[in-house]
Amino acid sequence: MEVKLQNLTKIFPSRNKKVGGEVVAVNDFTFTIPDGKLIGLLGPSGCGKSTTLYMISGLQKPTGGRIFFGEDDVTELTTENRGIGLVFQNYALYPHMTVRQNILFPLQNLKGEDKMTKEDMLERATEVAKLVQIDELMDRKPSELSGGQQQRVAIARALVKMPRVLLLDEPLSNLDARLRLQTREEIRRIQRNTGITTIFVTHDQEEAMSISDMIVVMKLGVVQQTGKPQEVYDDPHNLFVAKFLGTPPINVFDGKVAGGKLYIGEDCVLDVPGVADQDVTVGIRPEGFTPDENGPFVCNLRAVEVMGRDVSIVSDNAASQNPVIRSIVDADNKIDMTKETIRYTLKPHKVFIFNKENEERIYF
Ligand code: ATP
Repeated sequence: MEVKLQNLTKIFPSRNKKVGGEVVAVNDFTFTIPDGKLIGLLGPSGCGKSTTLYMISGLQKPTGGRIFFGEDDVTELTTENRGIGLVFQNYALYPHMTVRQNILFPLQNLKGEDKMTKEDMLERATEVAKLVQIDELMDRKPSELSGGQQQRVAIARALVKMPRVLLLDEPLSNLDARLRLQTREEIRRIQRNTGITTIFVTHDQEEAMSISDMIVVMKLGVVQQTGKPQEVYDDPHNLFVAKFLGTPPINVFDGKVAGGKLYIGEDCVLDVPGVADQDVTVGIRPEGFTPDENGPFVCNLRAVEVMGRDVSIVSDNAASQNPVIRSIVDADNKIDMTKETIRYTLKPHKVFIFNKENEERIYF
């Protein structure tokens, strides 16, 4: 089911009654989610991602704009009538019910021609329980399950009504690191197997990038960029997006362009033909540095952290906006720790320059 958001906007009255005014939680969001895809809605706390999800679910009414599921305009429909499955951060399972009863619950409330026989309901519940691999646990209560298992029950409960769209709001936040990894792969597998269009809200860029077909990066209610995760990582349109994606994060410097050359401090680090002379902000991905004793970019060497296949070189430079510069290079590079400085050549496709004022990308 294709999901189309058309100029979606949500304005709340300010929570601070004394100050008054309003909060534009989501501002003119237009985007089409293709049928059967998993979309990661991503951004820092307060950027409007949950509000967007709640508007798609019907839990919140938009101030402006429309929402379509396929050809259906669902903007005015109630949550119950939208045909969605919702999974929240806190699984919100019924503690006194078994796993089976929890999964059956949404089916028991179906009315009219959707009403199902007991046998059909049990068959459907078993089917989804198998899909999320909890069919062995059907007689347990939620308190007898691990966090990951509880989250899978919540997903089964959302899937049992065969939703047109599956909405997941930070579904992995309550899990420990290992379970998070496992469960996010699980969500990807379930989504692929069912082919249900899925929207996944998270503030964790790594999580979103690893499982999404497409990501939407938001800031202060405004969509900054949409695209395939790798494309957005490789071609950020502004400094915010460049900084938000990537672990370790992008290294940011004050720089300037003069005569078609990019300078960081006094070092002339790269040719940037066609770019007008100006002060700029420079972003360099950690994998954009090549240690090179004749390289033009000179930094103070602080430490080398071995990570197996790769090493992380920690250095600093007066023009760096981050306290340290992190570069990731192949472990075959032998770094001489007796030296005080390290010289780099930069990979041009890993270097981005941005307008100093509006932080938009300057292409070269
Ligand atoms: P988080 O990751 O912290 O949940 P988020 O990106 O999901 O953040 P939203 O919860 O969508 O952000 O909130 C977006 C903005 O709208 C925030 O500034 C928030 O304070 C404001 N907001 C959300 N709900 C309300 C409300 N009911 N009344 C007033 N302001 C609200």
